[in-house]
Amino acid sequence: MVHISAHRSSQTTILGVGPPDVVRHRVGLSAIATVSAVSKDGVDVLVVGAGMTGLTAGLTLVEAGKSVRIVDKGRSVGGRLATRRIGRATLDHGAQFFTVRSSEFGDAVRMWEHDGVVSVWTHGFDAENLDGHPRYRTNGGMSRLAKHLAAAFVGAGGDLVVNQRVHSIIDTGRSVTATYDGTTRPPDEAQAVLLTAPTPQIVQMLEAGGMPVPDPVRLVTYHAVIALLLITEHDPAGRLGPAGALQQPLDPMFTFIAENRAKGISDHIGLTFHTEPALSAALFDCSDQEIIDRLTPELRRVLGGDTWNEIQVKKWRYAGPRNGHPDRFLAVKGVRLPVLLAGDAFGGARVEGAFLSGRRAAEQLLRQSTQTSG
Ligand SMILES: Cc1cc2nc3c(=O)[nH]c(=O)nc-3n(C[C@H](O)[C@H](O)[C@H](O)COP(=O)(O)OP(=O)(O)OC[C@H]3O[C@@H](n4cnc5c(N)ncnc54)[C@H](O)[C@@H]3O)c2cc1C
Repeated sequence: MVHISAHRSSQTTILGVGPPDVVRHRVGLSAIATVSAVSKDGVDVLVVGAGMTGLTAGLTLVEAGKSVRIVDKGRSVGGRLATRRIGRATLDHGAQFFTVRSSEFGDAVRMWEHDGVVSVWTHGFDAENLDGHPRYRTNGGMSRLAKHLAAAFVGAGGDLVVNQRVHSIIDTGRSVTATYDGTTRPPDEAQAVLLTAPTPQIVQMLEAGGMPVPDPVRLVTYHAVIALLLITEHDPAGRLGPAGALQQPLDPMFTFIAENRAKGISDHIGLTFHTEPALSAALFDCSDQEIIDRLTPELRRVLGGDTWNEIQVKKWRYAGPRNGHPDRFLAVKGVRLPVLLAGDAFGGARVEGAFLSGRRAAEQLLRQSTQTSG
């Protein structure tokens, strides 16, 4: 289906707007990339990053009537809401679960629960110490939550572009322009830009375009995580807690271990191991094989000596902020049009922090556009 989206920048998109399931399914495909003809004045808002922050912001803006394009360098949406399929196993390898602390995020989670997208996984990982605090999983894997939000965004008339890495953000005076790596995509113009990548990547985009970089952004640092994904025939039930998972401090080397079938998202046994930050940093530049060789004794210890059929390594250089910025978003100063920075490094970490940052940044852009047009 080819759809001409309704908003004024007039894009031709391969995605189309069909029944939610069709859109949701298509959002999962790598052929999701849209073919866009950039109009003279561009979109109202260009959002860089289709993780929780960017999708939340994009949806808030498009539902308020703005023309919005979200671009992401990944093959699909989600960023650190990441799920990998290995044979019949489905494994979350980025965020493992999320918690709810604010009523605002709680309202969104209740809606997703009602839509059948998320459910309570457990009330604690330590059998001796169930604290009653719900930990949510996404049914079918974390990336499905991102696909759900992306489907809603596209369904509301938003334009989603994947497989395109933004190289620079340039203030032309008339618009803010994003240029892309490679030569396949012409620059995008917008009346405002929201950058939601991890901050070192935001700095790269701003510097490449000769834009000022707010000083506090340079102070944000991240910890790394190495994820190991194992497919095995041996059910480790009993070695992990009742939810099929172990969290530090119960295991000293791994911050988190989850068996994804017991978690309820996989048809086959598949284990996710996250190495603790100091170990992740020490091994980060090693080859996958070196990492596997180094960690094999630790994996065997957890598995009680059992082996595995397949093992894959995924490195997260920017897994989570070590020291974030206290505000939910920051504005780049000295530019005529709004350029805002948001993400889980702003105002609170994790999935909930990303959601709230995206919301607050979108509201700020809506306020600024009302002031400009008023
Ligand atoms: C291993 C791991 C475990 C975690 N565990 C948990 C957990 O259990 N609970 C929890 O709440 N949180 C957890 N988190 C954190 C959580 O995943 C993040 O806080 C949240 O997903 C961040 O969302 P975001 O949209 O801010 O950033 P991201 O998800 O990183 O999204 C940013 C997007 O920007 C894109 N991008 C970057 N540069 C460019 C560019 N130049 N051009 C175009 N696109 C670009 C990226 O491809 C990415 O999709 C975990 C994270 C990791 C990595």
